[in-house]
Amino acid sequence: MTYPELNEARAGWRWQPSSDCLSGRVILVTGAGDGIGLAAAKTFALHGAHVVLLGRTRSKLEAVFDWIEAHTDTQSVIVPMDLEEMNDDSADALYNAVSDTYGRLDGILHNASLLGPKVPIAHYPTREWQRVMMVNSTAPFILTKSLLPLLDAQAQATVVFTASGVARKGRAYWGAYAVSKFAQEGLMETLADELAQTSNIITASINPGGTRTSMRAAAYPAENPETVPLPEAHMDLYLYLFAQAPKALHGQPINARDWTGPSD
Ligand code: NDP
Repeated sequence: MTYPELNEARAGWRWQPSSDCLSGRVILVTGAGDGIGLAAAKTFALHGAHVVLLGRTRSKLEAVFDWIEAHTDTQSVIVPMDLEEMNDDSADALYNAVSDTYGRLDGILHNASLLGPKVPIAHYPTREWQRVMMVNSTAPFILTKSLLPLLDAQAQATVVFTASGVARKGRAYWGAYAVSKFAQEGLMETLADELAQTSNIITASINPGGTRTSMRAAAYPAENPETVPLPEAHMDLYLYLFAQAPKALHGQPINARDWTGPSD
C-alpha cells in the first residue's frame, strides 16, 4: 500500500479526485518536510503534480524527494531555504530555478510556519516576534510577489495561504503567531481583490483546524495526539483548490473541517 494514511482518509473525503487530477502541474509547497506540508507534497505528487519542495531541513526534504521518486512518475526538486532569510534576491533565484526546470508554475501552498513562544504580549521577546512575522507573513508576501508572473502565464493557477483559528479571533498568549496569521489572511484578501478582474489566479486560505503534527504537539503538550485528525483528512480540499482553481472560492477564508465539498 503506497500511502496507508491517505487511503484511509479517502473514505471521509468530500470530493473524490481522479488519480491524475494534477497531471503535469507544478506546485510549490513550503514547509514540505513535515506535518501538513509533507502530506500535501506526497498527495500532490501521487495525483500527478511535480512538486517544488521548499523547507528548512535538507534531510527531511530529501526523504520526501526519495518517497516521491519511489512512488510516482513525477519530478520533484528540493529547495532547502530558511524563510527567515527570504529576500527579493532569493525569491528571484527561485523564480529562475522553477522557470528553468519546469517552464511553468501552477500553484503555491504557503504552509511553512513558526509557532513562536506562547507568552503574553507584555513579555513577548521582540526578536522572536520578528522571526515569526518574517516566516509566517513576510516570506509568503515576497514569494507570492516574485512568482506571480509564472502563475499568471497559466490558464488557471492557485495560491493557498494557511490560516488558523487564531487568525480569525485573537487569543491570549498566541502572540506573533496569531498576528502573523491575521496578516496572512489580509494578504490573501488584498491579493484576491487585486486579481479578481485581471487574472486567472485564484487565492484562498485554509484553516486546517487541529491536526496531528509536531506543531500541534508543541502548542498543546497535554493533548493525546490520537484524538486529533491526521493531515491527510483534509487533503481533498487541498487537491480541489489546486486541481480545479474554483472561482467560487476565490478570496475565501475556508475552515477545512466545515467544508462540505464543491457546491456545483
Ligand atoms: P509543522 O511544525 O509540523 O511543520 C511546519 C513546517 O514548516 C516544517 O516543515 C518546517 O520545517 C517548516 N518551517 C518552519 N520554519 C521554517 C523556516 N524558517 N523556513 C522554512 N521552513 C520552515 O507544522 P504543521 O504541519 O502543523 O503546520 C502547517 C501549517 O498549518 C502551518 O502554517 C500552521 O500554522 C498551520 N496550522 C496547523 C494546525 C495544526 O493543528 N497542526 C492548526 C492550524 C493551522 P522543519 O521541519 O525543517 O523545521
